[in-house]
Amino acid sequence: MFEELKTASRTIRFRLMLWNAFVVLLTAFAVLIGIRAGVSYNLLHALDEILLEDMEEIRLAIEPELPFPISDTLMNQLDRKAIGHVHHHWFVQILDVRGDEIYSSVKAPDLHPEVQQIRDLRPFSSDGYRLVQLHLTNEKRELVTVRIGASLEFHKADMARIDRLFATVAGIVLIVAPLFGYWLAGRAINPLADIIETTARLRPSQLEERLPIRNTGDELDKLSETVNGLLNRIADHLEQKHDFLANSAHELRTPIAAIRSSVEVALERERSAEDYQELLIEVIEECGSLEILVNQLLLLAETETDRITNEGDAVPFHELVERAVDMFQGVADSHDINLTFEKEGDAYVDGYAHHLRQLINNLLDNAFKFTPAGGHISVTLHSNRESNTCHLTVSDSGRGIPPEDLPHVFERFFRGDRSRAHANETRGTGLGLSICQAVVLEHGGQIDVESRLGTGTTFKVTLPIVKAPVHAASATV
Ligand code: ADP
Repeated sequence: MFEELKTASRTIRFRLMLWNAFVVLLTAFAVLIGIRAGVSYNLLHALDEILLEDMEEIRLAIEPELPFPISDTLMNQLDRKAIGHVHHHWFVQILDVRGDEIYSSVKAPDLHPEVQQIRDLRPFSSDGYRLVQLHLTNEKRELVTVRIGASLEFHKADMARIDRLFATVAGIVLIVAPLFGYWLAGRAINPLADIIETTARLRPSQLEERLPIRNTGDELDKLSETVNGLLNRIADHLEQKHDFLANSAHELRTPIAAIRSSVEVALERERSAEDYQELLIEVIEECGSLEILVNQLLLLAETETDRITNEGDAVPFHELVERAVDMFQGVADSHDINLTFEKEGDAYVDGYAHHLRQLINNLLDNAFKFTPAGGHISVTLHSNRESNTCHLTVSDSGRGIPPEDLPHVFERFFRGDRSRAHANETRGTGLGLSICQAVVLEHGGQIDVESRLGTGTTFKVTLPIVKAPVHAASATV
């Protein structure tokens, strides 16, 4: 029970309820106190008005009789008025200049002598009475002080009634505000419960469900939309992973099946040494394909997990490109292809030499694969110190890529139309360019392709560069 309460007190609903109740109660108390002060002021003001009117009446009656003595008729008149208002303890006093009583109506109270000093016609409270005074003077001297008053009992009784009423209202607000707040908070956060419930049902293998959108445009709708967007991306990512896995398995099966069939053929019957040698060469070739594929898959996995940090090595990218061009020079010569290289400045790239080497090799390998004899391949590398980038281009005068294939060339396992393949094209895995893209992205760069069918293809790579390391001259890659 205690645990349940503790859990409930941690909920947003509970906290909203507390805040709501706090604000409502504070407002209600402020309003009630304001109303109470207003009512009290008005009641007192009404009493003051009556006393001032009475004072005016008495002044008009007394003035003709001054100076002393005051006539019996007037005294009787005043007594009658006092008796008439006895339940209000209404009284009138007439005092001489020394403050001694000349006349007091019935039930007139004994007041502190200081009240004599209060200014004329300014109502004030003293000893539980509301009072008004008037000092009557002629041009020579003060004659008398007239004081009238009435008990504040009625005012107190009225205020006590109002206080009881307000206490009842405050009590009701005190009970209703938290309950209403709890209900209101429940309504407001109900969609959250839906979000939690739906999200709890989601499984990596079952990501079709989406959070309901209520089209209210509020924050919870935005939260649902954001979560739905995230789910879409996760679902896409998982689908890609799944496709990648299925494709990888499929690609691995081909060389394995070839190896198996070669071995089965070898085991079928007794064969000559040359036959066995031939079959073993086939096995080795298939093992080579298998090795290439596995290495490519591993490299792709590496580019996904490895994130370049600032502590990476400053790799002399220009040297990597130079060496790759040198390495391919032999292939160019044997295929009668004109290979050129142009370099402008050194380019040190923060990253992994092994991956960057693969990037250059794949681009050159493709260029050679799709360029017929007599064609040319040009490689350029320019460093831009201002933008701290380097630009590598690999252009060939090969068969080009059909426009419909262009958007897909960087996709994993994508291979162009084989029927259009060049005669000397070797079997590709369809992973080469996706590795290039992964490596470029891994290094914070960009890769683009431009191609015209029958004219040639250019791959452009932009990579961020860093300052040459201090021992650049002795750096080896
Ligand atoms: P593959 O292992 O098949 O070469 P890639 O990912 O390297 O895989 O290339 C994907 C496809 O892009 C190729 O099958 C080919 O159709 C096309 N391609 C890539 N480079 C070139 C190029 N230089 N010239 C023409 N087509 C190219």
